[in-house]
Amino acid sequence: MGKVLAIANQKGGVGKTTTCINLAASLVATKRKVLLIDLDPQGNASMGSGVDKHTLQRSVYDVLMDECELTDALQTSENGGYQVLPANGDLTAAEVQLLEMKMKESRLRYALSAARDKFDFILIDCPPSLNMLTVNALVAADGVVIPMQCEYYALEGLSALVNTIKRIGQVLNPSLKIEGVLRTMYDPRNSLTNDVSAQLVQHFPNQLYHTVIPRNVRLAEAPSFGMPVLSYDKQSKGAIAYLALAGEINRRQEVANKAIPAPAL
Ligand code: ADP
Ligand code: MG
Repeated sequence: MGKVLAIANQKGGVGKTTTCINLAASLVATKRKVLLIDLDPQGNASMGSGVDKHTLQRSVYDVLMDECELTDALQTSENGGYQVLPANGDLTAAEVQLLEMKMKESRLRYALSAARDKFDFILIDCPPSLNMLTVNALVAADGVVIPMQCEYYALEGLSALVNTIKRIGQVLNPSLKIEGVLRTMYDPRNSLTNDVSAQLVQHFPNQLYHTVIPRNVRLAEAPSFGMPVLSYDKQSKGAIAYLALAGEINRRQEVANKAIPAPAL
């Protein structure tokens, strides 16, 4: 069964989409089968994966509305080597339409159930809000990866996200966990970065990833070519950092798999 990770933070511009694309490509580089689900109507993860959001026959919108099977809407990221369930502006309508539907919070989980065993990792790029789309991602997920910039207001917004994760854990998805907290656009020369980073170590001692993602212009340039940074400039600091993150996530997963007792014969 593939591990489903929602990449979430209701703050915009913290590196959710950048993490989704580059983690997907880096996990592929470690021989994992990966599906990226774009759940943001902006469609940035689709475009950055080389899938044109303007010419989609089918998208995650059709899947959520039960108008097609998930596997019928998948495309391949040529450069990234992973599968993409793309999104575009149609998804804005889903935010409203979902509210009227039965099992509105579990549509994505249900749609994913048949495809989960085809992948090792399924990464969901969440929109920058705690709306019904993000709720669908959190109900479908095993764990949440929270990218954050180490700046003054970063921690303030985090409690709303943590509370939402707890509430969904109590009501709709008891196995949901905060899988990891990822420091993005990291600049160790900035003393505020170091202060916030120290607070994160205290708040999330077991979840904070050792890997930090530096600020790196190659990461910002790559999406306009529809490529992960690994294809655009594999020597860049950004590429090396996301490969390290994939390694850390694989190792955590191996430890977690070992911790599950073998079924009795
Ligand atoms: P989100 O999905 O959370 O809104 P994005 O991943 O789109 O955030 O990132 C916001 C902007 O910052 C984008 O222009 C992106 O290219 C840039 N960016 C993200 N991570 C980095 C980084 N580590 N170094 C430099 N630029 C980055
Ligand atoms: Mg985004």
